[in-house]
Amino acid sequence: MPVDVIHLLPLPLILTLAALLGLAVLYDLRTFKHHKKKEDAIYRCASCRRVYTTPRQTPLARCPACGKQNPAARPR
Ligand SMILES: [Zn+2]
Repeated sequence: MPVDVIHLLPLPLILTLAALLGLAVLYDLRTFKHHKKKEDAIYRCASCRRVYTTPRQTPLARCPACGKQNPAARPR
């Protein structure tokens, strides 16, 4: 069965759009991963030694176990 040339014309366009979609997905995955890593801050309680994180970067965060305010152990 012979293939008509007119049916092969959109092929380069489809391949280009598929490549751009793949690049966009990779960019989104990298950006989301980097963004999430940047927002996490780690705290260690000075009185009960519990290690906890907060979703936002703040200079002080309250310990969920004893309620003491602690500075970030590893600020981002
Ligand atoms: Zn504590």
